[in-house]
Amino acid sequence: MDKIISHLQNSKSILVVSHANPDGDAIGSLIAMGLALKAISKKTTLYNESPIPAVYRFLPAVNSVVREVGNQTFDTAVILDCGALDRIGEAVSMVRRIPVIINIDHHVTNAGFGDLQLIDTSACATAEIVYRLIKQLSVSIDENIAASIYTGILTDTGSFRFSNTNKAAFAICEEMVTLGVDPYKIAQRVYGTYSLGRIKLLNLALDSIEISYNGRLSIMTLSQDMLNKTRTQPEDVDGLINYARRIEDVKVAALIQEHQNGDGTSETCGNYHVSLRSDGTIDVAEIASSFGGGGHSSAAGFNIESTLPDLKLKIFNLAERL
Ligand code: AMP
Ligand code: MN
Ligand code: MN
Repeated sequence: MDKIISHLQNSKSILVVSHANPDGDAIGSLIAMGLALKAISKKTTLYNESPIPAVYRFLPAVNSVVREVGNQTFDTAVILDCGALDRIGEAVSMVRRIPVIINIDHHVTNAGFGDLQLIDTSACATAEIVYRLIKQLSVSIDENIAASIYTGILTDTGSFRFSNTNKAAFAICEEMVTLGVDPYKIAQRVYGTYSLGRIKLLNLALDSIEISYNGRLSIMTLSQDMLNKTRTQPEDVDGLINYARRIEDVKVAALIQEHQNGDGTSETCGNYHVSLRSDGTIDVAEIASSFGGGGHSSAAGFNIESTLPDLKLKIFNLAERL
């Protein structure tokens, strides 16, 4: 931590990045970190490859997050909430050329990329680690930073319900409320409203659920066609897997999501993202790692090229071990 603090204090131009297809922690950490670095007068650029999901657009300074960095140069890159550097997306080759890469994360599968690391797998969210870093930088947490940290913790703990919910989640969020966060307002923004398309997508998602012969594994499948039909975006898929996870006796749920370039036919080879969730008794990070992905013990994911029937077979085969 001390090395990172002194390095940041000595940096001139800092690029802050979080993972593509960002969740609330990726956005919340990014903005909190950016505002804190601005508070100590650092030239800071915030980058994310994907558009900011609609539910997080209420956060302060979201408009300063860029999707292109042009030909700016940076002496330091701060990578947030990424188990592996390639999670940032296309910018990875540009970022690799930045002299110092700082890796701040809480994924168990983080192998420690970069030059300086602040990895705490017991942290409920990257926002928890960013909170500690901001304290160490002696930046006073204003309402904007507080809202960003609160949102990161709220969403990554599934509203204080997931197994990563720890004492710090409550302690930090209480402090953020003292600093001006309105929990009801943020909950309304993040969870309160669904577009009609998202409700229709939920219907298709629920209808797609299949269960393994022993009832311990569920698969939900979302095609690009379903997203097109309901006029929804990849961000609208966030959280749907929890329905497949909640089914009685299910230990592991998988959500198969066809990538944007997919053609929707099941016979041809396509690119898929698979999200995995467990009831806490199975380490899905290990399963995801065996497919080249990663994550946390009860929430993980991987990308794969396959035909849909082959992929389902591979996943259903996992049920034997459950
Ligand atoms: P997801 O369900 O895809 O949102 O991912 C659940 C968790 O697994 C998140 O913490 C992700 O950071 C992680 N994860 C998802 N996909 C990958 C991947 N391809 N490689 C490494 N980690 C991943
Ligand atoms: Mn994340
Ligand atoms: Mn996270």
